Amino acid sequence: MKGICILGATGSIGVSTLDVVQRHADQYQVVALTANTNINTLFEQCIEFKPDYAVVVNAEKGAEFKAKIVNTAIADMHVLIGAEALVTVATLESVDSVMAAIVGAAGLLSALAAAEAGKTVLLANKESLVMSGDIFMQAVKDSGAVLLPIDSEHNAIFQCMPANYTPGHDAPSARRILLTASGGPFRTTPLEELATVTVDQAVAHPKWDMGRKISVDSATMMNKGLELIEACLLFNMQPEQIQVVIHPQSIIHSMVDYVDGSVLAQMGNPDMRIPIAHAMAWPERFDSGVAPLDIFAVKHMDFEPADLQRFPCLRLAMEAISAGGIMPTVLNAANEIAVEAFLNEQIRFTDIPVIIEQSMAEFSATQADTLAHILEADQQARDQAQQVINSLTA
Ligand code: NAD
Ligand code: MG
Repeated sequence: MKGICILGATGSIGVSTLDVVQRHADQYQVVALTANTNINTLFEQCIEFKPDYAVVVNAEKGAEFKAKIVNTAIADMHVLIGAEALVTVATLESVDSVMAAIVGAAGLLSALAAAEAGKTVLLANKESLVMSGDIFMQAVKDSGAVLLPIDSEHNAIFQCMPANYTPGHDAPSARRILLTASGGPFRTTPLEELATVTVDQAVAHPKWDMGRKISVDSATMMNKGLELIEACLLFNMQPEQIQVVIHPQSIIHSMVDYVDGSVLAQMGNPDMRIPIAHAMAWPERFDSGVAPLDIFAVKHMDFEPADLQRFPCLRLAMEAISAGGIMPTVLNAANEIAVEAFLNEQIRFTDIPVIIEQSMAEFSATQADTLAHILEADQQARDQAQQVINSLTA
């Protein structure tokens, strides 16, 4: 029996993870579930999975949650409140695997703590890796943690890597990664219409059902930019070794090109339960609940290069990884602030890359050598992005 802690249990990845757990109750036991504010979903999940711990980050909602469980079947469960409790549950003795599925920088400290504690880290929260880069990968190596990618592309790449491959190490026979992207909802939208697209249009992804932040990131293709940085770190590759490929059908989830000219691809229906089940069962396999791929329904698959004029966020991410140091942290922080402002209808869709670019221009690529330095750069970039937003909306 493995104990699992799900950070961000109430989100899209968290819910899919519990769906897989429920199919394998003989192998996985839920030790801890965490939420930010959605205590109704958390309550239902706790009733069903009976974890030892539940964490509510928001203090007011946490107090409400404590009141809500009185005289219920989960009245004896430990309820912890506040962001520090995420680290507490991610490092519990009884936890073997940690699903890091909080969105954004808010997930960094708990994901890093799980890595430092030597847990099996199922990493969905790409922002934490983009922010802390080498520090995160070094923590994994130092502690002997097992790092398994959940992002569908990186999970696909991992599946296409040589047997016994460990993330963070070289795979000398792999010369290139072909990182696939659906192209999001605005792949063919006339460029002049992008300034007036709505939030609802931006979050309506054609192939994947995801949280709102990553859905906007997919529409700007910042998601692919973050994933490019993620791939460099996970697979020890240079940015030049990673080719972004637009593949609108989202059946191939990425490919590895080997020195002998062989290209290995991982395919499947676009459903996150596949990479989640892969990582949970690894190195074995088990049922994910996803229907078998109907290859005849796919009919054909298209591939095209990414248009950096249409998707300036992808260019900015490439610039950030090339500059190195704190620049990926700055990119990520400015993006989080810009996306939040777009979701709150304060700025236009096309303002997102402007805010990020103007924010990045205020920073130089100093070394991201300590966590304190990274957190400082993150905060400064947030402040800078907010200033740009204020000037745009004044
Ligand atoms: P979501 O918005 O659906 O869920 C986010 C979760 O994080 C929720 O449980 C929420 O309670 C929690 N959370 C939000 N803010 C928090 C805070 N300040 N402190 C603590 N917890 C907080 O997001 P999602 O789509 O499930 O994505 C989660 C992560 O997985 C993201 O990093 C995303 O990039 C990555 N990811 C998601 C998908 C997908 O298909 N949804 C695919 C690949 C990678
Ligand atoms: Mg992805």
